Amino acid sequence: MKNISPPSLKGLDLEELKKTLAPLGARAFHARQIMAWFYQRGVSDFSRMTDLSKELRNDLKKNFRTDELRLKTERRSRDGSRKILLETADGQLIESVLIPSKERLTACLSTQLGCKLNCGFCATGTMGFVRNLTAGEIADQLFHLQNIIGWQNRITNIVFMGMGEPMLNYDATLSAARLINSHQGFNIGARHITISTSGIVPGIVRLMEEPEQFKLAISLSATSDAVRDKIMPVNKKHPLKELLTAARNFSNRKGKLVFFEYILLAGVNDGLDDADRLSKLLKNIPAKVNLIPYNAGGRESAFRSSSPQVQQAFFERLHQLGVAVTVRISKGQDINAACGQLRAAITSK
Ligand code: SAH
Ligand code: SF4
Repeated sequence: MKNISPPSLKGLDLEELKKTLAPLGARAFHARQIMAWFYQRGVSDFSRMTDLSKELRNDLKKNFRTDELRLKTERRSRDGSRKILLETADGQLIESVLIPSKERLTACLSTQLGCKLNCGFCATGTMGFVRNLTAGEIADQLFHLQNIIGWQNRITNIVFMGMGEPMLNYDATLSAARLINSHQGFNIGARHITISTSGIVPGIVRLMEEPEQFKLAISLSATSDAVRDKIMPVNKKHPLKELLTAARNFSNRKGKLVFFEYILLAGVNDGLDDADRLSKLLKNIPAKVNLIPYNAGGRESAFRSSSPQVQQAFFERLHQLGVAVTVRISKGQDINAACGQLRAAITSK
């Protein structure tokens, strides 16, 4: 890894920033001013922070950096979603996606470089694990996405559904989520911030103890341990029963719905018997199911997406069984918008 000093100020919360700036003689209100420049106005160049004294600006420039990540490429999909590839100080690539819909502007952020969990259908899973992202690197993805669309047009929702498993980088993910949520930070409501996990039960248990009302999504994608063991090896460590108990406890504790993501894979998990089992599994859990069409992202793959007819039949069966269910229209197919895929496409060239 290259030497990445001087230290960065991006990603610090108010208390950390105050502490870091104290040796320069800066006061609490200076920390607030700097955070407002970063996260409300999108300015990270100290020389443009005109409400700080010249002397302080010079000291800041000498001692700190603010650029966690450098924008490498941006791709725009025909449906309006945008994907960016960012480079870390040690030359690694991170991807983040912006997904506009009628009332929302959702940012999909990465939490790790690669992933250890090796889900069979996932491009990130097949590329192995490099390292955790820092809280600053996670939050800076949002800064860059906001830069691209302009700061007058604010991002409203965050999903931690990019590369990596958030619950295996719990502390940095939570710090970033708190910064994104805080008034001095991006000021996005906790109810608009979703943390997605493949089923790391200790992470779910920790999240339910946190004071914030962050939303929990669980990538389920199978209705039996036999199938889930095969497509999501994390299931061998935390099988369905343990995972669903944690989901129920989370919902009871927080008084909230839990969101279940379910990728429809032809002949693997898309039968009507799966729909029936799924409704049974979720019987006592206040939940919403989000069906996701599989996105092969132009890779060779052992999986195929279920046909539109099968997707429709699966959806209708769940609906008839009283399960709250939606089908996610797969945004950004033409820019490989599923998890990990742009990076995989670029680095394999
Ligand atoms: N590791 C976490 C969050 C990142 S993955 C998790 O697994 O939940 C984000 C989402 O992308 C997950 O719901 C995952 O199931 C989905 N996903 C991964 N590969 C996909 C693909 N090829 N097509 C469609 N969705 C995919
Ligand atoms: Fe990791 Fe999530 Fe991809 Fe599974 S789906 S390999 S947990 S990023």
